[in-house]
Amino acid sequence: MIVRCQLCGNVTNESPSFQTLFQPYVFCLSCRHRYQPVYATEVIPYSNGLIYYHSVFDFEEDDPRANRLLFRYAKRYFVVINETFINNELFLWIDKNAFQTLPEWIFLIYDYDVVVWFSLFHFDFSIYEDL
Ligand SMILES: [Zn+2]
Repeated sequence: MIVRCQLCGNVTNESPSFQTLFQPYVFCLSCRHRYQPVYATEVIPYSNGLIYYHSVFDFEEDDPRANRLLFRYAKRYFVVINETFINNELFLWIDKNAFQTLPEWIFLIYDYDVVVWFSLFHFDFSIYEDL
């Protein structure tokens, strides 16, 4: 079966498997290796407590098309939010814009007991020394 990778555009000849037959997005073998989800978690201390930061991939990707196509790997986070939500928890989705403008909105988290951040690609928050 001839397939065009929706991430890189390369055309490959792959035998369909049960897994790829029903995939909404088809990625080539190279892209499947490159974009292996890691689902990392780190705990970031801030002045009023702790931030639990979860990211799907351990690198940054600027391509908006890749961001859109790979967003499906983040779906498990929405299941976690739905199943574990308790009062006075703040869940935030962090994209590149939110990461770059963090000093402008960080004060919003100070009233929450538990702060949980999610992102598709990993951001290095250590550049912000005074959270
Ligand atoms: Zn590809």
